[in-house]
Amino acid sequence: MVEYKNVHKSFGDVEVLKGLNLEIYPGEKVALIGPSGSGKTTIIRMLMTLEQPTSGEIIFDGKNLWHMEKKGKLVPANEKHLREVRGDIGMVFQHFNLFPHMTILQNCMTAPIHVKKESKETARKRSIEMLEKVGLGDKLDNYPSQLSGGQKQRVAMARALVMRPKIMLFDEVTSALDPELVGEVLEVIRDIAKEGEMAMVLVTHEMDFALDVADRVIFLDNGVVAEQGTPSEVLEESHNERLQQFLHRFR
Ligand code: ADP
Repeated sequence: MVEYKNVHKSFGDVEVLKGLNLEIYPGEKVALIGPSGSGKTTIIRMLMTLEQPTSGEIIFDGKNLWHMEKKGKLVPANEKHLREVRGDIGMVFQHFNLFPHMTILQNCMTAPIHVKKESKETARKRSIEMLEKVGLGDKLDNYPSQLSGGQKQRVAMARALVMRPKIMLFDEVTSALDPELVGEVLEVIRDIAKEGEMAMVLVTHEMDFALDVADRVIFLDNGVVAEQGTPSEVLEESHNERLQQFLHRFR
């Protein structure tokens, strides 16, 4: 479903990704782990088309994200192409990014109406369904400022789910939360993961959670995939020294 081919990414003189090769299969749940600054967020921002690779290719669902075929040639993608791609990818950020002047129901209804051109009634029905799924069916008319951090993050998830994405990207979605609110957010992600069909990429420092939910764990180090495998292979059995140093901090 997703393929990164020899992707390089530099910010100024600093090369963050140094030839990344990575594949994600349909329905797969992948946890991305690695030291701070290793490029995890950059990897998912490039898939969300918020950041452009310096070189290499990223293919999503058969579409080359940053280039498109024109008369047999690859040319840079235009806004229309990027808009089409974005519709199939859902992202949940560390800092919720909800619209403060809209109720949580309106927050969920906006994209289906304006991006997917769904009728107001369909968008409303489905938004209520998704807000119920994340346990917020009784808060439809509340504003984000009236909710706890954990509740806001659950709204952000419902808002992404309403779009029926083929893949969901979660970027450290619990790291801005008070510790007592982390559990409720992880629980919702666990529920979504169990439903199965959608691929998920989780950037996380919650190792127990990764062990529990992910099909595959990928350890990034020094701009490339340094280790990958099943959660127990990577988190419990690997002898990679850099990985051991990294994991030591969580023990
Ligand atoms: P991680 O998510 O693993 O912590 P990031 O992908 O956020 O890593 O960042 C990787 C490196 O790229 C960091 O050194 C960061 O400072 C740098 N970086 C990320 N985004 C930008 C940007 N827009 N401009 C300049 N440097 C950036």
